Amino acid sequence: TYTISMASRYTLAIIKPDVLVKQPHNIGTILKRIESKYNIVQRKQLELSLSDAERFYNDHRGKFFFERLVGFMTSGPIIPLVLSEKNTEVDSIKSWREFIGPTHAENARKVQCLRGEFGTSDTWNGFHGSGSPDEAIKEISFFFPEFK
Ligand code: GDP
Repeated sequence: TYTISMASRYTLAIIKPDVLVKQPHNIGTILKRIESKYNIVQRKQLELSLSDAERFYNDHRGKFFFERLVGFMTSGPIIPLVLSEKNTEVDSIKSWREFIGPTHAENARKVQCLRGEFGTSDTWNGFHGSGSPDEAIKEISFFFPEFK
């Protein structure tokens, strides 16, 4: 049988400031939706400093949307989460990326996904998900250094 390596058991999700600031009334619905498919293993709420946001998105430094992105990510509180698929045969990293949907709003609206439903633009897209096992490990320890 096929088993997922430990590296793909957990992913780092973020509920971004557009959700917390503009649609706090949807947070309950969103968390229920998440919990229908994932165990929320870790959860906190915080506000990123500019230097932490720049560090988190360091790979995007120099891109045209970088300043917009870090400005957005520091514009209000965020909820980082460590998620694990309830179905242990499934890769949590890939599954969560599919669950949030495409990065760009126009594409996200074409499919059933969290970004399509709750995101508003290419920058203000509501949710983050790690892109690979290496990224997941790095991003989980960024927000939850105590989680091993
Ligand atoms: P993700 O992995 O789907 O979050 O996408 P990326 O890692 O490529 O980009 C990080 C974040 O930067 C995205 O979630 C968006 O908030 C923002 N972003 C990415 N691409 C664009 C873009 O083309 N335009 C704008 N305005 N923002 C973008």
